[in-house]
Amino acid sequence: MSTAQRFDVSCLEAGAILSIDLNALVENWRTLQAVCGAAECAAVVKADAYGIGLAPVVEALRDAGCKTFFVAHVFEGRRVRGLAPESVIYVLNGLLPGSAPAYAQDGLRPVLGSLPEIEEWLQFVALWGGARAPDGDALAAALQIDTGMNRLGLKEKDFDAAEQLTRHLNIALVLSHFVWSGQANDVKNERQIELFSRLRAQWLDVPASMANSAGIFLDQTPLYDLVRPGYALYGGNPTPGRNNPMRGVVRLDAKIIQVREVEAGESVGYEGRWTAKARRRLATINAGYADGIPFRAMGSDRRPGAEALIHGRRCPFVGRVSMDLAVLDVTDVEHVQRGDQAELIGPTITIDELAARAGTIGYEILTHLGQRFYRRYTTL
Ligand SMILES: *Cc1c(COP(=O)(O)O)cnc(C)c1O
Repeated sequence: MSTAQRFDVSCLEAGAILSIDLNALVENWRTLQAVCGAAECAAVVKADAYGIGLAPVVEALRDAGCKTFFVAHVFEGRRVRGLAPESVIYVLNGLLPGSAPAYAQDGLRPVLGSLPEIEEWLQFVALWGGARAPDGDALAAALQIDTGMNRLGLKEKDFDAAEQLTRHLNIALVLSHFVWSGQANDVKNERQIELFSRLRAQWLDVPASMANSAGIFLDQTPLYDLVRPGYALYGGNPTPGRNNPMRGVVRLDAKIIQVREVEAGESVGYEGRWTAKARRRLATINAGYADGIPFRAMGSDRRPGAEALIHGRRCPFVGRVSMDLAVLDVTDVEHVQRGDQAELIGPTITIDELAARAGTIGYEILTHLGQRFYRRYTTL
């Protein structure tokens, strides 16, 4: 077991305890690799490994045999290089003007997604000549092809120019990204696969990659040469609406500070958004939206709200979540007292459930996980 606190906080002083199961993480990576057969299973570790913690995640996956990592920013890539010196590292957000030397310095591979980026990289590579990156490969890069996201990537009209330019480059991967892989039967997925299969033909001898977590589980998806899961590694369900094939990685337990009673007609929290219909018993927990507890955890007329688990029973959030505090209705649970813990995420309350009930997505829950928690990383 190891810990990596963002603040100087002890287990005793922290408002909540975030437990991260690195064994489950590694098992998830192995499961995905097994599902993918011959394709290589990389790991997407952008945004501090989705809030889980970049260093422990990269170290665990590196030791398990993961060889390729994806980040969003060059400075994230630099940290991964320090943790996994031999690995291949792609920077998804492309090449910022003037940043090419930073990529070369640490052997990071930009994912080039526009003609100006390709031109700038080409100019830089011409200057550096045959320089080699720490991974032993001559200044490699990936090409992103846009098949529908319309944020990054080459369009078909750019292809002739791109083909000319990339003749002088070491293009190691061609990739594209699904618009809505979480929707298993969506015709958009099929169209994107068709388009990608056709467009990548221009670089047919270059390895290709299309699938994110949910993309891996689509029926009839060719997995090409490499898959890029993020969410599923961290325990998110890559098969929405069906049983989650992944193991939970994150557990979040908040401490109860006070237990109190309110009478019928009394309200709770800012703006009095919740009013007791009868006498209720409430528990105030030591975490709020500054810690990533969703501001909209309490339900609405249209959506059942989030719940926490106390002594094995589900307790709804009541009232608006505050910055540092939130309130649960514990009327139906016996013997709740100050110092007890409420499971906000864990074996019962999954990331996906909390997200759905709070009107957000599990990705946001993970990447907003608080900095003030006591973090506990468990390994065998
Ligand atoms: C974030 C990202 C991924 C990982 O997606 P998940 O749904 O978390 O598996 C893969 N590819 C690209 C281009 C991304 O931006």
